[in-house]
Amino acid sequence: MPEIQILDPHVADLIAAGEVVERPASVVKELMENAFDAGAQNVTVEIRGGGVPYIRVTDDGCGMAPEDAGVAFLRHATSKLRDERGLEAIGTMGFRGEALAAISAVSHIELTTRRRGAREGTLVTLTAGEIQEMGPAGCPEGTTMVVRDLFYNTPARLKFLKSDRSEASACVQAALRCALGRPEVSVRMLRDGSEEFFSPGDGRQDSCVYSLLGRELASSLLPCRGEDEGMKVSGFVSSPSAGRGNRAAQFFFCNGRFIKSQLLQAALEQAYKNSLLTGRYPACALYLELSLGSVDVNVHPAKTEVKFSYEKRVFDLVYHTVLSALQGEDRSGAEPEPTVRETPAPKQDFFRSMSAEQYRAARSPVPKAPAKPEQPFGSGMTLRAPEMPIQTRMDLYTDAKPTGPVEKAPPPTGLAPAAPSVPVEKSVQNVESPRLPDHKILGEAMKTYILVEVGEQLLLIDKHAAHERMNFDRLKAADRKIMSQALLAPVTLRPDTGDGELLEQYGELLGELGFEIEPFGRGEYIIRSVPADILPSDAAPALEEILEKLRRGKTPDPQSARDEILHTVACKAAIKAGWDTSRAEQERIVAEVLCGRIKYCPHGRPVSAVLTRKDLDKMFKRIV
Ligand code: ADP
Ligand code: MG
Repeated sequence: MPEIQILDPHVADLIAAGEVVERPASVVKELMENAFDAGAQNVTVEIRGGGVPYIRVTDDGCGMAPEDAGVAFLRHATSKLRDERGLEAIGTMGFRGEALAAISAVSHIELTTRRRGAREGTLVTLTAGEIQEMGPAGCPEGTTMVVRDLFYNTPARLKFLKSDRSEASACVQAALRCALGRPEVSVRMLRDGSEEFFSPGDGRQDSCVYSLLGRELASSLLPCRGEDEGMKVSGFVSSPSAGRGNRAAQFFFCNGRFIKSQLLQAALEQAYKNSLLTGRYPACALYLELSLGSVDVNVHPAKTEVKFSYEKRVFDLVYHTVLSALQGEDRSGAEPEPTVRETPAPKQDFFRSMSAEQYRAARSPVPKAPAKPEQPFGSGMTLRAPEMPIQTRMDLYTDAKPTGPVEKAPPPTGLAPAAPSVPVEKSVQNVESPRLPDHKILGEAMKTYILVEVGEQLLLIDKHAAHERMNFDRLKAADRKIMSQALLAPVTLRPDTGDGELLEQYGELLGELGFEIEPFGRGEYIIRSVPADILPSDAAPALEEILEKLRRGKTPDPQSARDEILHTVACKAAIKAGWDTSRAEQERIVAEVLCGRIKYCPHGRPVSAVLTRKDLDKMFKRIV
């Protein structure tokens, strides 16, 4: 048995370096966090050659006194934590006093620092953690830390690094996350002499997100804000139509610190359920503000994971805030009504120059009627519409009158003429009917898009997508067994090998949703009944599609399986592009879109688009 020895402190530093300093990006993160903790307003990060040869972080923070400048590199030397009670409420990014010791142990360092108001600064150079020179130096207020030849004395670590290019992009990514968490700090990032990004540091989340994530992503973002007993969340989430192929654009921050959190990720994604295609992920920049005592940041070496004291409350807050944003609502209710804008589409640079409220108003999928701000639509904010009974396919395809209580707004003065007189909803009168803005259905283009004039805007509605969403919401809301129709001539189904098992595994669920299927022997099945919404000729194709989805989804949980099946039923039951659609059907679809109840089909495609007079005038060069 070998003898137990206390490690030489230098070796201990090297081990610690392995924990804190995994790659150049970790150095960038630690140095930037120190700059933030020093109260910097401007931070410049520069890397060369992937970060190993050169990393420099300059800040205009408080700087260090000469006597502190050398001590800072000792292990567990920190100005941020005094005793163990401090650990219960950590308000700084750092607190362990490990980073500078760990970084300096595996590199050459040059530190210049000057306290605010001090006559001169201090220069310290170190090699492998040993101070080489130290003395007064002329330098600006604040701190500059240059790290050269990272891992020069630990070749094993060097071997594990990736190419310069991937290390460099990891550095940029790390810096970006830090910068995104601090809208009040201006950060400039340089890579091999050229600027990677610059954030203005004006304290606004919107300009920070815009400058760091780019116009393309920013233009798909919806603002959100929510609060619950001292916990706050704010920021931006992507609209369902802008789903992404991975989660790389999901940024969560807790008290200014970038964190990875399965809890927050689940809360976010749960809110998109049924409005995002499977395999697509939302993007977000969400900022949580919690009391320091209700979050423990001391659970992970890199401090990117945290422990919330009240996980359920955090989950609920994030979930409901995101959901409200997606529904165009604002939970806090504290913000003023959005101002009316003429054009709903985001314009270049407008993200930067608008408040979050204006941004939200502008991003409303359906614009407000310009002359009637007291009757907004599309945002779903002031319209507490009653559940409108939605017709089954049967109603749609007979000439039966829809029973939906769609009431017109009183004729306004000086606006477009009232909608054409279509014999709708005479029977049911509901005092709380949604009041729709004045509109005129102009007709249908290509048997696909319903054209509606609303004030100065032309609304185009994808009738299939809209109807599919109406069907899906109705089916999903039905807590009873879904109405099923027996097929006069039962249809046989020969599923692919393996799918028979799926049919049996999900037999009960399919039964609840209106599909009655029996094994017929030799791998064949008989479909005896299907949901009432589906045409008999669609019975087999619908089931094949459902099996395909269930197969692809491996073993989905019952709720997801149910949703997948309902998607298919909703789609098959929806009117199709290319079909003739009666005026009454058009009216009902238009009403649903105008009152803001439906915005995206169950796959996340938008159901409507808008052309404003300005857009048209531009198209025809009436204006430039
Ligand atoms: P920690 O951040 O956990 O305290 P570090 O090793 O990162 O530990 O830093 C050690 C100490 O050095 C800090 O507590 C702080 O007092 C000082 N320091 C480091 N970087 C800066 C900076 N950019 N400006 C001012 N002080 C700094
Ligand atoms: Mg630190």
